[in-house]
Amino acid sequence: MLSEFDLIKQYFQRRRPGRAVLGIGDDCALLAPAPGRQVAISSDMLVEDRHFFAGADPRMLGHKSLAVNLSDLAAMGARPVAFTLALALPKADPAWLEGFSSGLFALADAFECELIGGDTTKGPLNICITVFGELSPGHALRRDAARAGDDIWISGTLGDARLALAGYWKEQALDPAQHEQAALRMHMPTPRVALGLALAAQPIAHAALDISDGLVGDLGHILAASRVGATLDVDALPAGPVLARQPLALRRRFTAAGGDDYELCFTAPVAQREAVLAAGRESGTAVTRVGRIEAEAGLRLVDADGKALDLGLKGWDHFTTA
Ligand code: ADP
Ligand code: MG
Repeated sequence: MLSEFDLIKQYFQRRRPGRAVLGIGDDCALLAPAPGRQVAISSDMLVEDRHFFAGADPRMLGHKSLAVNLSDLAAMGARPVAFTLALALPKADPAWLEGFSSGLFALADAFECELIGGDTTKGPLNICITVFGELSPGHALRRDAARAGDDIWISGTLGDARLALAGYWKEQALDPAQHEQAALRMHMPTPRVALGLALAAQPIAHAALDISDGLVGDLGHILAASRVGATLDVDALPAGPVLARQPLALRRRFTAAGGDDYELCFTAPVAQREAVLAAGRESGTAVTRVGRIEAEAGLRLVDADGKALDLGLKGWDHFTTA
């Protein structure tokens, strides 16, 4: 039977030298931020049966636990530096730990983000990661920075993760190959770090966030913080490849309010359109213009002809009425 310290040593403490002044093993880790830079910090917790199904593939879970945190750094325009991992485990299962840590470190290495500490305890499966990133003062892509006249942009595609959930819940009949493709979007989100960095570099964008709870609700956070409103062209929203083959009503609902997408929603001045497109090309990320920030409060959904659309989305009044 693995002890707590064997477990940490075997699965989470790596022998390679990192960038941290001091990593795993002491009471605290030590980081030395580059001179003149700010530190961006964010935590996300994943709880079994709430954020993922019991018995979820441990490798994908390792990926997703870090991906949702890196996505927050991306949405702020910060460069990933390090993270901590607080883990409650029902038992020390070597096969699970091997899968989880390999999924986690594959993504950590891809973004040069170093595991510098954490906590390990017995309990119902619960994964909490805190990420640390760096950015230049004044360059953070804050939710309160949208301005009337800004374009609204979306990275990548929306709705396939929600479609996968509809498949699991038997809300929607999907053939197995399509379900599997959509489920990859749900279990293996891609944090848009390179795009976030490009948008914050000049900076090109004003406000940004990552879409975790559905675009309409999440965009509502930008509108509230920035004290503005918006018109969103629902038919311009880029649907995921699996959702794109579904009927229009479902496409509209799942792109506008799907959840679990981990794409960026950001606003940028009209004068930056070319720069946004260039940032998308340089970071290898599709970017689509989907609406406009306006002085008038509230979120107006329209179709391709500019006609008002009522999708009857739950929670939307809550987020959008001033
Ligand atoms: P303390 O009792 O001082 O809080 P612990 O005994 O919990 O320290 O942890 C020992 C060392 O292992 C610490 O440096 C801690 O940050 C690290 N650690 C514990 N759990 C994890 C984990 N799941 N992943 C990475 N590092 C961990
Ligand atoms: Mg401890």
